[in-house]
Amino acid sequence: MLFWLIHTGKLIYFYYHARRMILSFVLFRLLKVNQGLALKNSINTEDLMHYNTQMEAARQGIITEQLKSAAKNEGRDFHDLLSLVAQGKIAIPANKNHTNLKPAGIGQGLMTKINVNLGISKDCKCFETEMNKAKKAIELGADAIMDLSSYGKTRDFRQELIRISPVMIGTVPIYDAVGFYDKDLATISAEEFLEVVLSHAEDGVDFMTIHAGINRATAERFKKSGRLTNIVSRGGSLLFAWMELTGNENPFYEHFDKVLAICNKYDVTISLGDACRPGSIHDSTDPSQIEELIVLGELTQEAWKKNVQVMIEGPGHMAINEIEANMIIQKRLCHGAPFYVLGPIVTDIAPGYDHITSAIGGAIAAASGADFLCYVTPAEHLRLPDYEDMKDGIIAAKIAAHAGDIAKGINGARDWDYAMSEARRNLDWNTMFQLAVDQEKPKKYRESSKPEIEDSCTMCGKMCAVRNMNSILSGKPVNIL
Ligand code: SF4
Repeated sequence: MLFWLIHTGKLIYFYYHARRMILSFVLFRLLKVNQGLALKNSINTEDLMHYNTQMEAARQGIITEQLKSAAKNEGRDFHDLLSLVAQGKIAIPANKNHTNLKPAGIGQGLMTKINVNLGISKDCKCFETEMNKAKKAIELGADAIMDLSSYGKTRDFRQELIRISPVMIGTVPIYDAVGFYDKDLATISAEEFLEVVLSHAEDGVDFMTIHAGINRATAERFKKSGRLTNIVSRGGSLLFAWMELTGNENPFYEHFDKVLAICNKYDVTISLGDACRPGSIHDSTDPSQIEELIVLGELTQEAWKKNVQVMIEGPGHMAINEIEANMIIQKRLCHGAPFYVLGPIVTDIAPGYDHITSAIGGAIAAASGADFLCYVTPAEHLRLPDYEDMKDGIIAAKIAAHAGDIAKGINGARDWDYAMSEARRNLDWNTMFQLAVDQEKPKKYRESSKPEIEDSCTMCGKMCAVRNMNSILSGKPVNIL
C-alpha cells in the first residue's frame, strides 16, 4: 500500500487529507467540551445540582428556568440578575407547587411591580365574585394577587386561585388561621399558626406576609408611644392582641426558624409584614415603625442564611416629604432587600379617592427605590372593593409604578411614553388607545364627544394646537375659522 502510494505520487495527498481529518476531529471534540462547559455554567447544571430556593440556586451560579423567565420579562440578560438574586436584592417568588406560574422578579433595577388584594370575607363571601375579580385583575396587568380570604372555604379559593393564576400569589396566613380554626384568638397555639403557614406553602403560595417583626419588645415600645391610630395592620393587630392575651412571644418571631424551614422547602418568599406601619400621617416614621424595621433587618439576615428570599413591607400613611428618607432607611436597615409599600397614602383626608393619594405616594416611593406597590382602591377604609374599585386601583398603581420607573431609569420605561407622544403628535387616536394604560376609558371618552373635524377633539376643535402645528410646519395653511 505504502509502495503504491509513493509510486503513484499520492503519499502527500493522503498525508494532507489524514491531517485535516485528525485536526477536524480534535476541533470537534474541543467544541463539544466548550459547549459542555458553557452549559455547565448555565442551564444543564440545574439537573446536576441540588437547590431548594431561587436564592440557593443563584448562590451556586445555577441559571434556573424561573430566573430566565424573570429576565425575559424585563428584557434583560439573565446573567445581570443572577448575583442580585444571590445577594437577596432581587426576589423571584415562585413556589415549587405553583406550576402555572410565569415567574417574575421584584427588586433592584427591575420594573416596579403591583399587587392586587382580594379574597372572601364574612360580609362578602361570594366565591365566584372574587374569583372573577382575580381573572380581571390578571387581564388588567396585575403582577401579583394577594388572597386575603378570611372566611369560609379559604383553602378551596386559594387552591383554585393558584391553579388559574400565571401571576405570583401571596397570602397572610394569620388571617386564614383565625377563620380556619374558627375559635377564640387566644386559644390558637403557636403550632396551629405554623400549620397554616405549612398548608399555604403546600398549596403553592409564592409569597407570604409574616408579621414576625412585632415581638414583645416592639409591642412594649408601641404601648409607650401614644400613637394617634394605634396598629392598623390587620395581622399586626391580631398578633398584638394574641401576645397581650397569652403573655407569649409572637409565634412567628419565636419560631422563625420553623417558618424558614417551611419557606425553604417550598421556596416561599417571606414578605416581612410591618405590623407598626403608620395608619395616619401623624404616626409615620415614629419609634414603633423604626424599631420594627430594625427587627425586620435582623430577620432578613436570618432568612438569607437559610437561602430564603425576603421582601420587606412598608408604610402606610406618610407625608410626601418623608417618603424618600423612608425608602433609603429601609434599604439600609434591611440590607437592600426588595421593598413592598402599601401606599404610601400621602394625606388622610380623601376617603373615596385613596387610589389617588396612594398613587402620589407610590410614585415617589418607586422613584426613591421601592420595588413593589400594593394597590389601594377608592374603597379603602370604606368597604371591600368591587370590580370598578379594583380597576381604578390597578390603573392608579400601574401609573405610579411606571412614573417611578421613568425616574429610576428602568430599561425601556421611557419608550412607552415616546410612542404615546408620537401618536399624539400624529393625532393617531387608535394607536393612543392601544398604548393607553387603560384601553377602554379613552375610547369611551372620544366616542362620547365627536369633534366637527376628525383630526382634532372637542376641547379646541379647529384651534387644535397639534393639528395647526403639523400643518404650518409642513408648509400647509392653517384654517381656524
Ligand atoms: S383639540 Fe386641543 S386637546 Fe384636542 S388634541 Fe388638539 S390640542 Fe389636544
